[in-house]
Amino acid sequence: MFPKETHILVVDDSLNIRRLVVDSLNRMGFTKITAAEDAVEAFNKLNSAAESDKPVQLVLSDLNMPGPSGLDFLKQVRSNDSYQTLPFILVTTESEKGAVIEAAMAGVSGYIVKPFNIETLTKRLKEAWAKHNS
Ligand SMILES: [Mg+2]
Repeated sequence: MFPKETHILVVDDSLNIRRLVVDSLNRMGFTKITAAEDAVEAFNKLNSAAESDKPVQLVLSDLNMPGPSGLDFLKQVRSNDSYQTLPFILVTTESEKGAVIEAAMAGVSGYIVKPFNIETLTKRLKEAWAKHNS
């Protein structure tokens, strides 16, 4: 499982969902969380963190956002050599299954389907950790 000090980037255009995800991660014991409301802000924060002593080590990104989507963001991240193996989980809804195949091809680490609870979030994080550390 990701260590509690893992730097997690949470991206969602909905303030409520952003708060829900951050709050859930806090309750799971994670303390280093950065939030962004769109993919542009997220990529900027990802890059500035990469130049700091605490680079982002896990991304949880909404799929459906105004401007670049979570899938666009995933592709942008994966096209950068520094982020080839950065764990990247897409947060989707049941109706967005079509994007899942494309995301798989683009190198997504896993999915979380909204609505979700702490147990599901924990399970998905464990799966992503295992995928990147096996
Ligand atoms: Mg959204």
